[in-house]
Formats: sequence, C-alpha cells, structure tokens
Amino acid sequence: MSQLWSTVIRLIASDFPVLYADCLRGEPPEPYERAGIMTPYSPRDLADCPKCDEAWDIEVLELEGKAELFCVCPEHGWNRIDPLILRRWWLHLDPILDRFVEIMEIKGTRTPIMPNLVWKLGRRGQCQLIFVKYCREEHLKAMTAELVKHPKAVIITITPESAERLSITLPNRKFSLVETTQYPPNETLTVDFEKIEAMIAPEAVVPSQSVPRRGNRTVNIEKLVDELKAHYRSAKDHYYNSDGKILPRPSQADLARRIGTRQDDVSRCLNDPDAVLLRTLWKNAEDVRAILNS
Ligand SMILES: [Zn+2]
Repeated sequence: MSQLWSTVIRLIASDFPVLYADCLRGEPPEPYERAGIMTPYSPRDLADCPKCDEAWDIEVLELEGKAELFCVCPEHGWNRIDPLILRRWWLHLDPILDRFVEIMEIKGTRTPIMPNLVWKLGRRGQCQLIFVKYCREEHLKAMTAELVKHPKAVIITITPESAERLSITLPNRKFSLVETTQYPPNETLTVDFEKIEAMIAPEAVVPSQSVPRRGNRTVNIEKLVDELKAHYRSAKDHYYNSDGKILPRPSQADLARRIGTRQDDVSRCLNDPDAVLLRTLWKNAEDVRAILNS
C-alpha cells in the first residue's frame, strides 16, 4: 500500500485531519490536491532543528535579495530550512466518499445518521451501505443503538479497528477502507472489489441445498478457517495499535453469522475429526504468542 494513502486514510478518521509535509515520504501531493482530498492549510510556524530534531522558532533573513528561512535552535544555532517542509494540508473525507460511491455504483443520497460520524451511503443492488467514520470505545453504545435498526446493512468503516469494535455488538457484514482501497502514487482511488466481496458476501458462496451434507461441512470448515485467520490478523494489528491489548475470540454465534450458517453447524465443524487446523486456530485465538506468530 502507498505509505501516503495509508497515512491520509487513517488521519481522516481523526479529529485533526492535518497532514504534515514530512508524511509525503517522496510521494507527490498533487493527485490528492486535484481530487480535493488535500487542501493547503496554514504552514507550520515552527521548524525542526536538523541536529536535535526539536521544533524551534523560524526567522526570515533577506539574503542577496531573497528571503531565506532559518530554524533557530538555542543549542545548535541557525540552520537554513526549505519552506516546502513547512507545508501542511487539511484532509477532506467527502471527495473520497464521492469517488468511492461512484466506483462502487452506489445509488441514493448520502444522509447523516449521527452527525459527522455515521451516514447512509445508499444502496448497491439490494444491499444498503452505511459508512462509519470511526467508532471509539465511547461511541459504541450510541452507535449500536442506531445501527441495530439496520441489521441487513453492510457497514463500511475507515479502519479495521473500528470494524472490529463494532463487531462486538453488531453482527452486520463489514469491511474497512484501509483494507480495500489503494491510491497508487500519481494515480487515483482504486477499490478492491474482490476483497470486498470476500468480506461481505458469505451467503453468495454458501452451497445450495443439493450439495451433500459432507460437502457442506467441508466448505464451512474452510470458511471458518478463513474467518479465524482474519481474526488473527486483526488481533495482531489491534495488539500493536493498543499497547498490547488483546481482542476477544469471536463467539460461535458470531462465526455462524459471518459465514452465513447456524451456530450448531459451527459447533459440528469444530468437532469434526478432520478439522484439525480449525480446532488449533480456535483453541489459540486468545493466546498472544499464537496471534503474534501467525
Ligand atoms: Zn538543535
């Protein structure tokens, strides 16, 4: 993933969505500016001293008819700085959502459900899509109370961490923009449809009634293995993003909902003598070492 996109999309899910020039890491800001995602914001009024990396006041000197900027560090003196490194941009969510809706061919009007946090995006075929900017611990209760009214909607979050948090209370199908979008340098937003389909459409691959029971079981075991592997991945990310806190293992009821089957099927799969990998993943799903080594 482009480093810059990864920074942009995660910063947008914050209360101060301002990108500093040192986050560009060599990628051009122009495509984002053209798309209206980044607009110039007041430049930094402090600069980092190249020797101690601390931020100090800036002085402007007129040298040979040209204004030059200097960082004035009490310890390391005056160091010339490039004004480009002081640039900052305000990041805008709306152009990203507009483009996303267009690519996904979502129909309807974007309407807020909770101000600046949750919107109805519209419909894609039979499916209603709800966008959640972020869900922190303190939002979960209020958000659950709203979203529980839309049990069939697919929930789209920016970060997998928000999706994971909502999964504690809401069985809706979900995916995150961090996991399913790209913004290659000098290009435009792209969406990984295959990944989205895989994350939200389990019933699409549930075999029909005519498939023999044994075949069904094998398919469900594979799906449960995939679900638990996905859980390990989020648990690992979560561990590193939250000072070593560990995610709870999804319940059998959760897993059943995610793969579109009944809870007793999940329990049968877990007890299947052939499901060795599945049982191992299930048993170790709250073991920090197993998660970090996965
Ligand atoms: Zn210094």
